[in-house]
Amino acid sequence: MTVSTFKRGLKLPTRKHATEGKPVELVPMPKQVVIPVNQHFGAPNKALVNAGDKVVRGQKIAEGAGPGPMTVPVHASISGTVKKIEPRLQSNNTSGLCIIIEAEEGQDQTTTMFMPPLDPYTCTREEALGRIRDAGITGMGGAGFPAHVKLNPPPGKAVDIVIADGAECEPYLTTDEAVITEKPHLLITGLVGTMRINGIKRAIIGMEDNKASLIPLLEREIRLNDAAKDLDISLGLCRTRYPQGGEKMLIKALTQREVPSGGLPMDAGCIVQNVGTLVAIAEAFTLGKPLIDRDLTVSGGACKRPKNIRAPIGTLITELPPEFIEIDYGSLQKILFGGPMMGNAVSTAAIPIQKNTSGIILMTGEETVIDAEGECIRCSRCIRNCPCRLSPVLMNNALESDDMEEAVRTGLMDCIECGSCSYICPARIKLVQRFRVGKQRLRAMSQRQAAVKQEKTPPAERAAGAANPGRA
Ligand code: SF4
Ligand code: SF4
Repeated sequence: MTVSTFKRGLKLPTRKHATEGKPVELVPMPKQVVIPVNQHFGAPNKALVNAGDKVVRGQKIAEGAGPGPMTVPVHASISGTVKKIEPRLQSNNTSGLCIIIEAEEGQDQTTTMFMPPLDPYTCTREEALGRIRDAGITGMGGAGFPAHVKLNPPPGKAVDIVIADGAECEPYLTTDEAVITEKPHLLITGLVGTMRINGIKRAIIGMEDNKASLIPLLEREIRLNDAAKDLDISLGLCRTRYPQGGEKMLIKALTQREVPSGGLPMDAGCIVQNVGTLVAIAEAFTLGKPLIDRDLTVSGGACKRPKNIRAPIGTLITELPPEFIEIDYGSLQKILFGGPMMGNAVSTAAIPIQKNTSGIILMTGEETVIDAEGECIRCSRCIRNCPCRLSPVLMNNALESDDMEEAVRTGLMDCIECGSCSYICPARIKLVQRFRVGKQRLRAMSQRQAAVKQEKTPPAERAAGAANPGRA
């Protein structure tokens, strides 16, 4: 099998040895969970429960506050009593509304409020998309994009390949590998179900070449799945190179297609879904189970027992017994939610696990560099290593001068926030951190402009527009 890749990017130390090959361990039942009401990219949710309400594992507790597809519901991950609904610190370093559920002594956790199973191979397209939305499934690779929206490209977009993203190029993280090893049957079920939604006949499961040993396992599962018999599902190995798991890089490596500037994978005829998302989709069909548990890696030099874990959404690792997870606070220097390249550095580990938490990395001083920013020495390393062929130094200069127009012109909105430029910069300039803030500012500006435009629209026209949102 040939090994493909993309241009530029970085060869990073993988640091996966501490959890590689380890099975996923179920966490001891948490006494409480803190479930963020909003865990997806899109329109906000509202809570459906009040303090004092009894809830059952799998029960819907929050859903979209208004019409529109860019929202997914949130479900109780344990059975218990809603103690409070209040703002709490989340992994994106903002305070957001959370539903706090306490499990009482001896409470039955085996009774669930799941949906009835639905056959992914015979149900209608609408039923399939509705099931994925109702199960609250978002991309589990990090961005939290609603899965049903990704699987429903607008008319006119010709999508002919589904890519299962099992590259897992971030250092430390090993959960995708564990998911492929432990649930290959569900992975193929989710993949075939996903292909059926849009009548797609071709799929590629993309992995870095450090996971080549998983090929026979996946080939066997593809052979055993009757619904996959008339489909072209292949395996694609990519070089172990960061950020190989980025959608644009994976599409380029596996299909030689380019996602155009400002475009999405569907503009290259592809839908990319993380392997964990595909397993969640399969469970939503076969078990009727909403997305209430999450597999993730807990690792780093300041983690005394690094492991892959499965935890109810809303679990705080600081509340798990020390014999299961123990933090070495003496050597702890940095806490990351997500991997070290794209994850968020946070001030405390007492932050709830969300649908998109792929890992919690507890780093020592030796594993991380906390240097003050220096002056740019114009070495152009950031340009030479940017996988999106952008000029990070120019984008940074524009943002520093508050020139948003120039920042956009030099590629800000095409930045995938991979962090390669920050990693390689000898002056330790916080490039990607500025790009994240710059993009947030741009989004806020366009939301304000949309709100002003709506205010200026006469009420009758507004009502007609709401009734026909597809109108130009
Ligand atoms: S500019 Fe964006 S895409 Fe390019 S290396 Fe930096 S973070 Fe990655
Ligand atoms: S890598 Fe850092 S120092 Fe070199 S050009 Fe880019 S911003 Fe400047």
